[in-house]
Amino acid sequence: MTAWRIGTTEIHKVLEAEVTVTLAEVLRTDDTALLKRYAWPAPDFSRADGTFVLSVHGLVVDTGARRILVDTCVGNARPSVPFLRMLDSTWLEDLADLGYPPESIDTVVCTHLHFDHIGWNTRLVDGNWVPTFPRARHLVTRVEWDHWAHDADTDLHDTMQPLIDAGLVDFVGSDHRVCDGVRLEAAAGHTPGQVAVVVESGGERAVITGDLVHHPVQFTEPDVAGLADTDTTQAAATRRAFVDRYADTGTLVIGTHFPAPTAGLLRRGGDGGVRFVVDGGR
Ligand SMILES: [Zn+2]
Repeated sequence: MTAWRIGTTEIHKVLEAEVTVTLAEVLRTDDTALLKRYAWPAPDFSRADGTFVLSVHGLVVDTGARRILVDTCVGNARPSVPFLRMLDSTWLEDLADLGYPPESIDTVVCTHLHFDHIGWNTRLVDGNWVPTFPRARHLVTRVEWDHWAHDADTDLHDTMQPLIDAGLVDFVGSDHRVCDGVRLEAAAGHTPGQVAVVVESGGERAVITGDLVHHPVQFTEPDVAGLADTDTTQAAATRRAFVDRYADTGTLVIGTHFPAPTAGLLRRGGDGGVRFVVDGGR
């Protein structure tokens, strides 16, 4: 498992699955040579056959005082998800083996409400979907909830309703401060209420992207939309603002769907173009 240290805060990646995809399965582009124009820090970002790897993982942010889980992947035994149906993974055991049994998680941040970010919110026990993290406050932005809760095609019955019934959900603003050193930052466009998560400690900073990008080429070419972006214009504006905010600042960018090495820095080249490069220092 991969981990990073930001000041005194630890961030752990807990992998659920890796899926090999074509560009057209994830991004709105006809440019099949798009990925070949740039150098990538690992072969999984661009394979010779034109595919790349989409990682599905959760991220534990451990400040010492708080244990915050950012996104809960697809989950096991989901019959009707678009991919990774009826998974039977050891993700929850892997999380516990890292030192984070479910009851030790005090906060779950749902960056947005797509199925691959909220699956382990609940688990199937004796035929019922029950909260996986019974002591955690589950943070969802009010804008995000209001959008999907009224969408007839989106079924949150198994993943969100048990949490709401148990009183475990807090509907928050897109700039919500989770605790000292951890805050949400608006990242609308992929979905209306999506957030990124900013982690700061000891003068260092990391930011977890959510799905504002699915591949780092979208930092370089922000107009390349994600296939599932609900508002492509807003999503592109969010990517531009993100790059302006974090390029050449030393901020560690941790991709919610990036395969290993998963995190890197945004650097502006002499031509003004932005590259995602791996930080070897941590
Ligand atoms: Zn996603």
